[in-house]
Amino acid sequence: MICVSIGRSRHRHMMAEHKHLVEQGARFVELRLDWIAGDVNLKRLLADRPCPVLLSCRREVDGGKWVGNEQKRLMLLRTAIVEGVDYIDIEEDVAASIPRFGKTKRVISYHNFRKTPEELPAIYAQIAKHDPDVVKIATLANQPHDNLRMLKLVRESKIPTVGFCMGDMGTASRLLAGRFGSPWTYATFHQERVLAPGQLSFQLMTETYHYNKIDSETVVYGVIADPVGHSLSPQIHNAAFRQCQLNAVYVPFRVPAQNLDQFLADARQLGIHGLSVTIPHKESVIRKLNKVEAAVKGIGAANTIIFDGDSLAGYNTDCRAAMESLDRAMQPPAYDRGSIDGKTVLVLGAGGAARAIVYALQRRNAKVVVASRTTSRAEQLADQFGCSVVDWETRYSVSPDLLVNCTPVGMHPFVDETPFEKHHLRPSMVVFDMVYNPENTLLMKDARSQGCLTITGVEMFVRQASLQFKLFTGQEAPWDLMRDVLKRTTGAAKV
Ligand code: NAP
Repeated sequence: MICVSIGRSRHRHMMAEHKHLVEQGARFVELRLDWIAGDVNLKRLLADRPCPVLLSCRREVDGGKWVGNEQKRLMLLRTAIVEGVDYIDIEEDVAASIPRFGKTKRVISYHNFRKTPEELPAIYAQIAKHDPDVVKIATLANQPHDNLRMLKLVRESKIPTVGFCMGDMGTASRLLAGRFGSPWTYATFHQERVLAPGQLSFQLMTETYHYNKIDSETVVYGVIADPVGHSLSPQIHNAAFRQCQLNAVYVPFRVPAQNLDQFLADARQLGIHGLSVTIPHKESVIRKLNKVEAAVKGIGAANTIIFDGDSLAGYNTDCRAAMESLDRAMQPPAYDRGSIDGKTVLVLGAGGAARAIVYALQRRNAKVVVASRTTSRAEQLADQFGCSVVDWETRYSVSPDLLVNCTPVGMHPFVDETPFEKHHLRPSMVVFDMVYNPENTLLMKDARSQGCLTITGVEMFVRQASLQFKLFTGQEAPWDLMRDVLKRTTGAAKV
């Protein structure tokens, strides 16, 4: 179940939001009394409530807005119980002074905005002394391992326990809480009005993550990155799981570089069967893999890992996706100048994406020339794969059959920028832009207007995600759906 937290300064707005949420499918809400400006009218808030209500009134020390008299706050909580509210949230340190009465269920809570203490079981035991119907423990995650400690506590506790970590490193625990037996998880009404760090909106929780479908059998996949918030993979993978009726969820895990080993050691206990891997882990993850496909070895980077029994297998779907995108586009009747073999290819950029495509192009006997803003990086790449280098400023001196942009130039919000001026594009060129947000970058628009054959980053992104989906599930991916979701999401991100 999802409990949607509502914090508004006016009764009228709080009630309207409550009603609206129920119309949107919410079945349980938390009304945050500390947000209300002036005196709280409990009768008004609770009369004709359209779904069960949890009332809380947070002090500043617990992340709330209540700055008034503590006796007045405790009286408000007692009055709410007398008024017959469905659930009341009482902080552990004041729980002894607020007795059980009537049918109101007691949620005894503990908050820590600095850390997830080592002594979580002791905190649980202390709360258990206060006659709770539900234990609530919310702490800040300072490392991904905190999530596992919290979720294990949730699973092992005798009294129903809502336990999760706050902050962007704790978001995964909010999404996986139900899998570990938490009676509910919290969400916010609007992503712009987050009531606690790391909270997701009710819409995201339901429409993207299908939280209410998550149970103890749900198979977990995800992406590890730092930062991870920008990733569009949760949108497309979760939509694909839903379409294929799989009991699976795809979660964003923020994993800093120094926490990678611990996270991989924890992964199976979190229910993880497969992961997408991105910056900064693509290279460093390799030393943890027992099996790797040839491309991973050749490129020196993996973007997908599969947990297969005790072993960890690594793949690079970027490389395959890039080549499949090229091969599919460079075919008659759209393209009648033959395949990639022997073609001159100018690759712009010398980062991870460039490495993946240069590796594959070299194996196809293309004549690869790399131009990168930092020439030393291009030289390093050339040394590794045996291709040539030109300075960034002299990139127009190459007359390529195929131009591949592996820089982020043109990416949202810098949509008026291009890595290759229009007047240097010739109609015979194939132009491939790896940037996928937006799909129609300035480079793509210029290339089309010059009569070039174009391949967009969306094509490649959906292809690499489909290949991951196949590795994760063994099933063919719902390609059209994934493509639609990506286009919709990037379209929305543009505005
Ligand atoms: P990366 O490892 O950070 O490499 C970026 C490269 O672009 C570096 O060579 C960097 O040069 C260069 N660069 C950055 N800003 C530049 C600028 N303003 N002008 C010129 N060069 C610039 O990134 P990556 O992982 O290779 O990704 C590159 C792009 O490909 C990103 O936009 C990413 O979203 C996209 N991508 C798309 C897909 C897909 O499926 N469509 C897959 C992977 C990547 P310096 O060394 O000088 O910084």
